[in-house]
Amino acid sequence: MRTALHERLETVRAQIDEAAGAAGRSAAEITLIAVTKFHPASMIHDLYELGVRDIGENRHQEASEKAAALRELQLHWHFVGQLQTKKARQVASYADVIHSIDRIRLVDALASIEGSRDVFVQVNLTDDPGRGGVVQQELELLVEAVEASKTLNLQGLMAVAPLDEPPARAFDRLVALAERAQKIAPHATSLSAGMTHDFHEAIAAGATHLRIGSAITGNRPNPG
Ligand SMILES: *Cc1c(COP(=O)(O)O)cnc(C)c1O
Repeated sequence: MRTALHERLETVRAQIDEAAGAAGRSAAEITLIAVTKFHPASMIHDLYELGVRDIGENRHQEASEKAAALRELQLHWHFVGQLQTKKARQVASYADVIHSIDRIRLVDALASIEGSRDVFVQVNLTDDPGRGGVVQQELELLVEAVEASKTLNLQGLMAVAPLDEPPARAFDRLVALAERAQKIAPHATSLSAGMTHDFHEAIAAGATHLRIGSAITGNRPNPG
């Protein structure tokens, strides 16, 4: 018998296939990142056994503990949360991909890491400059800084759709911003967008990296 986790994962996978088909896309070009914040490392182990290789976390302390506990597994760790400048180097010690580069100070902080990391520039799709993500007027400057970095490989843009508008409209703005970014970084064609409640719309808009939490994990035990 399948576990509830297995059922939810298969449902999400089927929905991704369906949304990709409806958009005339191949699901093979879409990376599913299971966001496991607030859930124990044992759940990540279970997901690994179900074939999941991409794990997303949004808080440094929790992510670093899980990555250490599971270091023998071949997992790709994606850091998707707001990143404090003073924690950036520590996050880069276990994260393979950082989705939340939203200011030049982070680029500077990551200039001296060993090796290189794949990153996304997070853009703010709201009118509230206090939300995560670079404001639209500063996008080009930040993309130029990441491009100039010797340690960061820009994959594309990342965004969280605002709660107070239809996600498809927000993702249209994201696509327009991605076109602006690609004038500076033509190779940065990935798009990290789509969560439990908007991944269909994100796939229709061209998302290549979905960050899906509760649809896979069930409700978070300890929201905060
Ligand atoms: C928690 C989180 C997700 C996943 O959210 P769900 O709504 O549970 O799918 C995706 N992206 C970021 C940045 C998150 O913090």
